Amino acid sequence: MIWNPNKECMSLDERRELQGRRLRKIVTYVYHNVPFYRHKLQEMDITPDDIRTIDDIVKLPFTTKKDLRDNYPFGLQAAPQSEIIRIHASSGTTGNPTIVGYTRKDIGVWTECMARCLTAYGVTRNDIFSVAYGYGLFTGGLGAHNGVEMVGASVVPASTGNTEKHVKLIRDLGITGIACTPSYALYLAETMDRMGVTKNDINLRVGAFGAEPWTEQMRTEIEERLGLKGYNIYGLSEVMGPSVSYECEMQHGSHINEDHFFPEIIDPVTLERLPNGQTGELVFTTLTKEGMPVLRYRTRDLCTLLDGECECGRTTVRMGRIQGRSDDMLIIRGINVFPSQVESVVLSMPEFAPRYMLIVDRVNNLDTLTVQVEIRQEYFTDVFDTPAAIDALEKKLSARLKSVLSIAAKVQLKAPNTIERSQGKSAHVIDKRNL
Ligand code: ADP
Ligand code: ZN
Repeated sequence: MIWNPNKECMSLDERRELQGRRLRKIVTYVYHNVPFYRHKLQEMDITPDDIRTIDDIVKLPFTTKKDLRDNYPFGLQAAPQSEIIRIHASSGTTGNPTIVGYTRKDIGVWTECMARCLTAYGVTRNDIFSVAYGYGLFTGGLGAHNGVEMVGASVVPASTGNTEKHVKLIRDLGITGIACTPSYALYLAETMDRMGVTKNDINLRVGAFGAEPWTEQMRTEIEERLGLKGYNIYGLSEVMGPSVSYECEMQHGSHINEDHFFPEIIDPVTLERLPNGQTGELVFTTLTKEGMPVLRYRTRDLCTLLDGECECGRTTVRMGRIQGRSDDMLIIRGINVFPSQVESVVLSMPEFAPRYMLIVDRVNNLDTLTVQVEIRQEYFTDVFDTPAAIDALEKKLSARLKSVLSIAAKVQLKAPNTIERSQGKSAHVIDKRNL
């Protein structure tokens, strides 16, 4: 089934024409409403008149997460505050989160995109659909929620946590669909096992899984254990939220809602645009957003764009699975975590040397984070003399990490010079999850 054949199946020429028109409009809009973009375009000697077709997009400057943080909180907002009806926030690298404001029209577009996804997965008004993404500042919960209502299924806003009650509801209400992170889906399966609930006791048939990288093996395991069919959903709050792209029943790549989010793949080093089929960093330009439009936003997600017709009938370009990141961001229990956040905490406490290691693992299908930190020589004897002092320092570090990362980390204090010093990108991370 296709929610909006007019937009999802339009001819390539027609779509290019639409994208070109929308690009010119959005560039004009930010030029007049966002000083940040106006200055950038002026520096490059570009005016909105230079944008005639969608191919002119390569003339435009890139936007990065740093730009968003530097202009915290509302510097990149294009619409007046009176037009903003919702504000979400995503974790920043250190310090400030990224703030994203949505106008009523933006929420409408997002909801439409969500409805397209859910319909591609076969969700209809006859489904009972549970949203088990976190509700709150994170875009997953409310984003999926609106889409389910739009399609007309009965939404159960389960959110995360309280998993036993959720299993009970899945069984008792005959819930047929669920949206959550793939790791939460496995945790749900685990909880069912513990409660003695089998897949024959429940009615789930479709799952919308995303917000973190996952593999085909995970898909097979989730499908077998929950007795459903699992589909990929991708998105990011800077661009909109979940539903930037979605799998269809063919499941070879995720269709991008490219009438709203124009994708490019670039070489993350040279910043040159790469032809479809090559792997590089995914970049999005929002073509219709009013609240906080972004021009050529660098997602840091590495993947490939796939041309060619899809047997489902949709003509939109597809993106392959996310193969990694061009920065060092980790996604732990669905939350974005940057090693630099840990570093900022470690540096702020005199007891510690600037040597630390993040160890990420998956135990019983739940991500775990352990942070090892070296104590400075001058504190070492004092601290390690008394177990109470070690305990107090561990607690202090845990609490600060929790407030900065928004997830709990297990803390391990180490003696001076015991954490190996290594070079390169993953110098501070050991990820044992095999994603
Ligand atoms: P959201 O609120 O949608 O999770 P965030 O901005 O917090 O948005 O995180 C977005 C990031 O999550 C993406 O840039 C990507 O790295 C990751 N992500 C989201 N969906 C998927 C997916 N289906 N597969 C792999 N990674 C994903
Ligand atoms: Zn398709």
